[in-house]
Amino acid sequence: MGDLLVLWDIDHTLIENYGVNKEIYGWAFELLTGQPAVHRARTDGRTEPEIMRNMLLEHGIEPTTDHAARALEVLDSATLSRIDAMRERGHELPGARDALVALRSTPGVVQSVLSGNIRPNAITKLSAFSLEGFLDFEIGGYGSDDSARDNLVAFAQRRASEKFGVLFDKSNTVLIGDTARDVQAGRNGGAHVVAVASGSASMEELQAAGADLVLADLRDTDAVLAAVTSFSR
Ligand SMILES: [Mg+2]
Repeated sequence: MGDLLVLWDIDHTLIENYGVNKEIYGWAFELLTGQPAVHRARTDGRTEPEIMRNMLLEHGIEPTTDHAARALEVLDSATLSRIDAMRERGHELPGARDALVALRSTPGVVQSVLSGNIRPNAITKLSAFSLEGFLDFEIGGYGSDDSARDNLVAFAQRRASEKFGVLFDKSNTVLIGDTARDVQAGRNGGAHVVAVASGSASMEELQAAGADLVLADLRDTDAVLAAVTSFSR
């Protein structure tokens, strides 16, 4: 088969955090503003910079360029401070590791992430479950690249094209994610989308959002492999 760029979402697709993410955003908000968060973060596939900006607005604080600049630093340190809780309360999702292993041994496949997490947090969270070794973090698209998830596909494709000397565009890029925002990012950004209903969105909702293929979860490795590689040229 030809070259194929596979871009994984992280939260609720590869790993489950059981509310630790919301604690991280609460603590990041406190580090950023000096006041405790009263309103919980709304995530659902939003990028981390977008989550922080929305939290500021919900607390009646007008986001400034200083907030945006310091958000990356506080998100990084808030995540590092909760990594033990992430490891204790969270877990890798069933089938995630087997899917990563199967795709790693598929010729032509390059695996990275397309994540609303800023780059250091993508690595930190996956490292908590020893899943980071399957993914190439030099490429990929991150919340630290752009606060709009739709724009992250182009970052990932450009990085992968430059690194491997192969043109990656919609014809050979597959995004795997659990939210309507993942589906939208693929449709608007230029990637095929395999959606997994392991987050809060149902299979029907992901289908309605326009996913090319929808799986209940990653448990059936052969089905995941078949779905992802169905888009290789
Ligand atoms: Mg997700």
